[in-house]
Amino acid sequence: MTIKTFRGGIHPPEYKELTQNSVFEKVPAPGQIFLPLTQHLGRQAIPVVKKGSVVTAGMLVAQADGFISAPIHSPVCGTVANLGKQITSSGFPKDTITIITNGQTEAAFMSPMDPETITPDDIRKRVADAGIVGQGGAAFPTSVKLTPPPEKLIEFVILNGCECEPYLTRDYRFMLERPDAVIGGLKLILKVLGVQKGIMGIENNKPAAIEKMKNYLRDEKDLSVVVVKTKYPQGAEKMLIKAITGREVPPGKLPMDVGAVMQNVGTAVAIYDAITKGEPLITAALTVSGKGIKNPKNLIVPVGTPIKDVIDHCGGLTDNAAKIIVGGPMMGAAQYDLSSPVMKATSGILVLTKDEVETKQETTCVRCGKCVEVCPLNLLPTRLARLTQLQRYEDAEMIGITVCMECGTCAYTCPSNIPLVQWIRLGKQKVFRLQKERSASEN
Ligand code: SF4
Ligand code: SF4
Repeated sequence: MTIKTFRGGIHPPEYKELTQNSVFEKVPAPGQIFLPLTQHLGRQAIPVVKKGSVVTAGMLVAQADGFISAPIHSPVCGTVANLGKQITSSGFPKDTITIITNGQTEAAFMSPMDPETITPDDIRKRVADAGIVGQGGAAFPTSVKLTPPPEKLIEFVILNGCECEPYLTRDYRFMLERPDAVIGGLKLILKVLGVQKGIMGIENNKPAAIEKMKNYLRDEKDLSVVVVKTKYPQGAEKMLIKAITGREVPPGKLPMDVGAVMQNVGTAVAIYDAITKGEPLITAALTVSGKGIKNPKNLIVPVGTPIKDVIDHCGGLTDNAAKIIVGGPMMGAAQYDLSSPVMKATSGILVLTKDEVETKQETTCVRCGKCVEVCPLNLLPTRLARLTQLQRYEDAEMIGITVCMECGTCAYTCPSNIPLVQWIRLGKQKVFRLQKERSASEN
């Protein structure tokens, strides 16, 4: 039988064995936590506490600013020490609430609701009130994704259990340890969207998770598991929709334009917990892995915990640790300041060793075409990078630079070690600026 997939893509070493059998461990609250007001795509949240405010776990500390925004809750009991700037994993300082913890453990959650009788409107409101953001990496406010325009016909919900980034095993552990919450969350998503058909997409390198989910769905006629090929970036929205349904999301369009809504396994768990326990999104489930960390683990970490505390919880760095990345190795961001906090959508902390990060010499493009062959979006990475180098941004725009999802597949394949994705990222920023200027001059 042919296993479903998409065109292009690569097969980097997986390194999942470092943590795939590591059961989630809860990390206690550190001495102080940092809660950046922008942990989501959209407008920054507005603080509702001030210096000296006493907070308990689950209490609202910043409210959403409009529809595309998300509120923030304290994951700990303590006292607000400061409202100021703090460096984040993006590398930039952001407005942040700092809380000194007091070791107490009481929680002020919302009231639990019955998933059987809850109405779609109440689910949507609870998801918004709980500050849930997409756990697949983009951190888009989930309540917005659950509110498609009425003219869009949604035919199916896809639950993304691919976890195609090397090293990461967080979603895998969710499927093994919390199948009730994964499926319960999927059912709530289906209910809020008024959709019957739910499909879980899981890569074929996770047989235990596939078996577990299939068993859970044995008696469900509208819910199913589709096994897809292990290939990077199989978990990207457009790639998984193509693999499962055969439908292509056109450039500039959204999954809902082809009748699909996709959510990550971790988002389903967060929705289930917000409904059944009243718990806002105050913890991040993440994989800490790599040869540069002493004890790789899967952890449940209070949001706002400094990366350094998480690394210490895993026994610290090895002597040859050289590079720390937040996220996966393909799309994650290198870190320079370990006081930067774990955020709502942090899926991993990865520590690479010296031999793994040795910089390879960049040489001239040999026009081998490999980058074009592997680009899952059929772009011309070499041309996009060249046009950026030549500052021909309008030409780069014409051939689709803004469509690039920065998956890094092209750069990984390039035998000349050309940092294609860095050039393309720069080009995209320039094009977005040009587009902004254009629309300002038109108005
Ligand atoms: S980073 Fe962009 S250009 Fe490169 S393979 Fe991914 S989508 Fe294609
Ligand atoms: S993979 Fe590298 S060397 Fe080959 S065409 Fe693309 S940029 Fe050039």
